[in-house]
Amino acid sequence: MDSLQVPAAGQQEAALLSCPPDGYVPLSDLARALGQRVDALSRLARISMVPDALRVERREGTRSVAWYLPGRTADGLIAQHQAGHPMPWQGKPLVDDLAGKYRLWCVRRHPSACLKCHRIWGHSEPPANFEAYVARYTRLSLGDKAHLTQLWAKPRPLSEAMEHLVRLSGHDRVVEALENGALRTLERDGRAWMDSRVIDEWSAAGYPQALPSAQQVWALPSTAAASSSVDVGQVLWLIEHDEVQARMGSGPVSKGRLFVDLLEVGAVIARRGLSACAPARVDAA
Ligand SMILES: [Zn+2]
Repeated sequence: MDSLQVPAAGQQEAALLSCPPDGYVPLSDLARALGQRVDALSRLARISMVPDALRVERREGTRSVAWYLPGRTADGLIAQHQAGHPMPWQGKPLVDDLAGKYRLWCVRRHPSACLKCHRIWGHSEPPANFEAYVARYTRLSLGDKAHLTQLWAKPRPLSEAMEHLVRLSGHDRVVEALENGALRTLERDGRAWMDSRVIDEWSAAGYPQALPSAQQVWALPSTAAASSSVDVGQVLWLIEHDEVQARMGSGPVSKGRLFVDLLEVGAVIARRGLSACAPARVDAA
C-alpha cells in the first residue's frame, strides 16, 4: 500500500447544500466577533479547519458559496475567542502559507512526464483544487513538498534532444552515454523524452561516456579501437573469440548496436602488446 495514498474522505470536498439546515448561521456573521476577515474564515472552512462548517449554494446575486455552521458551534467559537483560548485552526499550518504554496504549484506544476510527481501524488491524478491539494500536501515529506514547486526544465522529445546532443559531442558519444546511463531518457505516453536538466548536467560534466562510478564502460567497437590505437577489425576479432565482453544495446537509441567493454579491450590489447601497426599479431596470438 502506498503510504502517500490519502483516504478518499480527506480528498472530498464538503457537500454543497441548497439551503442551510435549521439552527445554522452564516460563518460570515462571526467574522467581527472572532476578529477575522470574512474571506480568511471562508478559506479556513474550505480546508476543514472550522468545525461542522457546511457549504451552501448561493442565492442569486451573492457569492458562489456561503459557509454555515451550527449556532451552538458558532457560540462556542465566540466564547473561546473571548476567553482568549486558541481557536481550532491555530497551530495548524498557516492558511496563507498553504495558499501561497498552492499558487506557486499551479504556476510551476511539472508535466505528466515527471515520474517523481507521479509518485508523490500516489500514482493517481494530481489534486484538482486547493482543498484536495491541502488534504494531500500536508501529509507529504519535506523533500516531496520541495520537489513539487521546484522549477521544471522542459522535457524534450528524444529525437530533438538527440539532434542537439549530437551537435555538441558527436553521435557515437551520445549513443555510448545512453548505453552507460550517463544520459537518461524518460518514457511517458509511449514516447521517449529527455529532461533538459539531464542535457545541461551532461554538457557541464564534459560529455562523459559513463558515470564516474561505472565499473564497466560500454563503447562502440570503433571507439574502443580508437582509444587503444588499434584497428576496429582487431576489436571485432577479440569479441568474436570471446576475449572481451560484448553486448547488444537495448535502449531507444542503442537498440541493435554492438557494444564492447572498453576497459577490458584496453587491458587485453595492452597485455598482448598489440598495436594498429601489427594487426596480424591478433591472429597469431
Ligand atoms: Zn515533478
